[in-house]
Formats: sequence, C-alpha cells, structure tokens
Amino acid sequence: MPILKANPTLKDFQGYVRQLEKERGFSEDTILHKCLFLGEELGELFRAIRKQQKMKTDANSKYGTVDEELADMLIYIFAIANRFNIDLEGVFREKEEVNKNRTWK
Ligand SMILES: [Mg+2]
Repeated sequence: MPILKANPTLKDFQGYVRQLEKERGFSEDTILHKCLFLGEELGELFRAIRKQQKMKTDANSKYGTVDEELADMLIYIFAIANRFNIDLEGVFREKEEVNKNRTWK
C-alpha cells in the first residue's frame, strides 16, 4: 500500500497514484481508458452536486459525495498526467502565468 506523506506536493500525489496503479493492477490501462473513467467520474460528481443542491436524482444511482467524487477525478487526472510524463505542478504554474495576463470582461 503506497503512503502519501503529510503536506504532499503535486509530484508526491502523482507518485502515489503511480504506485497505487501498480499495486492495484491498473498500470497497463491506456490513456483512453483513463479518460473514459475520468468522464464517468465527472458524471458522478455532477450527480453528487445535483443531490447536494436538492435537485431530483435517481434514488438507485450509485455515487459518492461531492468531495469523494472530486477525489476520484483527481486520481484519474494524476493517472493521465503520469502517462504523458507531465509534471502537473510545473504546468499549473506555467499556465497560471499565462492566465494572469488574460483579460476578463
Ligand atoms: Mg466516483
């Protein structure tokens, strides 16, 4: 069982997900697999938000809470980033520098 240290960086999260995928037998899943799972988790997140917002939902549908579904999505985002060897912390910082110069009207 991988261990996620206290106060992890995004790199630590990516390493943790890489390890858990090895241990749980998901390392060979393709990028397409991971993208499809991420899409499913987005649907689960939206259903959880609908429920949290007291909107009608299918009582038999299985999904978690908003926070649980966000965590599921993060796992798939880390897994996809790992397959592309993307350093999420680095690209987040780079992209935010671009975003800071955008004009919002
Ligand atoms: Mg889920």
